[in-house]
Amino acid sequence: MLVSKSREPREYQNRRLDALAEPPEVGHDLFVGLSALHDTLSSNHHSRDFAFAHARYLRSRVLALGLIFAMLSPLWIVVDSLVLPSELLWYTLAGRVGLLLGLVGVLAVAYLSRDRIRRIRFSAGMLLALPAGFYLFVLIILPADQVRSLAGYGFIPFLLVAALSVFPFTLLESFVAGLAMLGLLAFSQVIEGSWLTGRGLESLWLLASLLIVSLAANHFQLSLLLRLYRQATHDALTGLFNRGALEVHLEKVQAWQRDTEGQDSLGSVPCSLLMVDLDHFKRINDSYGHSVGDSVLCQFAELLVRQTRRHDCVARYGGEEFVIILVGSGQARAIEVAERIRDAVEKAHFTGRDDQSIPVTASIGVTRLQQDEPPQEALKRADEALYQAKREGRNQVVAALASMDA
Ligand code: GH3
Ligand code: MG
Ligand code: MG
Repeated sequence: MLVSKSREPREYQNRRLDALAEPPEVGHDLFVGLSALHDTLSSNHHSRDFAFAHARYLRSRVLALGLIFAMLSPLWIVVDSLVLPSELLWYTLAGRVGLLLGLVGVLAVAYLSRDRIRRIRFSAGMLLALPAGFYLFVLIILPADQVRSLAGYGFIPFLLVAALSVFPFTLLESFVAGLAMLGLLAFSQVIEGSWLTGRGLESLWLLASLLIVSLAANHFQLSLLLRLYRQATHDALTGLFNRGALEVHLEKVQAWQRDTEGQDSLGSVPCSLLMVDLDHFKRINDSYGHSVGDSVLCQFAELLVRQTRRHDCVARYGGEEFVIILVGSGQARAIEVAERIRDAVEKAHFTGRDDQSIPVTASIGVTRLQQDEPPQEALKRADEALYQAKREGRNQVVAALASMDA
C-alpha cells in the first residue's frame, strides 16, 4: 500500500445529477409532465444503458406481435376465399405468400438480435411496413375496376396504427409511422374513388384520432419504462447509480477494455476504482440530525460528480460509501484524482439547516481495475485500501499495490 501526496485541484466538466433526485418544487407537476414529454419525444437523450433495456423490451413486443401477424396471415386466405371474387384471389394470394415470408424473416431477425439495438428497431419497423406494403401491392396490381370488390382490406391502416400503441416507440417514430398510414389510406381512397368524399374524410379523421390515442399510449408506456429503469438503477437520495448498476457497469468497462486491447497495439485502456467513504459520518447524523445527514450526502454526491469527467461513473455503493470508476486512468493518475477529491471535500462548504457550515472529510481507497478479474475482487482491494486509510487516521488516500501499475 502507498499513501499519495497532494496535488492542485483541476477544473472538470459539470454534470447534472438525475432529475429524479431533486425535482424543483415550484410548478413541479408541470416540470415532470414536460420533462417526461422531452424524454419520450425521441431517443436522443436516452443513455446507452437505457437504449439496451428499451431494445430488449421492444424485441419481446416484436416477437409477440410478429407471431400473431404470421398466424393471422394464412387464416386470412380462408376469409379471402369466402369474400373475394375468384379472379381477385390469385393477386391477394401472391401478396400473402410474400407477406408471410417477410414476417418469418422479421421474426428470425428479432429472435437472433438479442442486444443489437439497430436490428431490433429495424425489425419493429418492418413488422409494420410489411402489411402496409402488402396492401399497397394489392392496390397497385389490382385492375382499377376491381378494387371496389376488395372486401376486408380497408382496415389494414387502422390495424397498424392501433398496433403502434403496443410498442414503446418514441413519439417521433410513431408520428412518422402514423403519417405513412394516413398516406396509405389516402392512396387507397384515391384508387377506389372515395378521396375527398364524406365517407373518405370520415375514415381519415378516424385514423388521425386513433393515431393520437396510440401516441398517448406510446408516451405513457415509454415514460413508465424510463421511470422503472431509473428506479432500478439509480439511488433515490442522490440520483447516482446504485450498487447493482455499478456492478453491471464494471463488467461493461472490463468488456470494453478487452475489446480495445485487441484493437490497439498499446494494450487495453487502463481503468481505476476509487472507494470513497465519509469520515465519522455517524457524528454528523448525531449532531445535526438525519435529514441534515441526507443533505450532506447529496452535496457530497454533487461534489463527486463535479470532480469527475462525463465518461467516469460515480455510484452510491452503500450508506455513506461511494465508488468512482475512472475510465482511461491508470493507478498513478487515479491517485492524483483521489487526492484532488479528498482536498476538494476538505475545502468544500457543506451546509446544514440555516446555512450552518459542517466540516466534512473523506477517506479514499484506490485500485487499478484489471480487465480479467471478477469485479468483486477489485472492489475488495479498494475496500481494503480504504480500511487502511481509516486506520491510519482518515482524511487520506491509500492505494492498493497493483501488479500492473500504469
Ligand atoms: P468512519 O469514519 O469509520 O467511516 O465512521 P462513520 O461514522 O462514517 O461510519 P459508520 O459505519 O460507523 O456509520 C455510518 C453511518 O452512516 C451510520 C448510518 O446511520 C449513516 N447512514 C447510512 N446511510 C445513510 C443515509 O442514507 N442517510 C443518513 N443521514 N445517514 C446514513
Ligand atoms: Mg464513514
Ligand atoms: Mg462506511
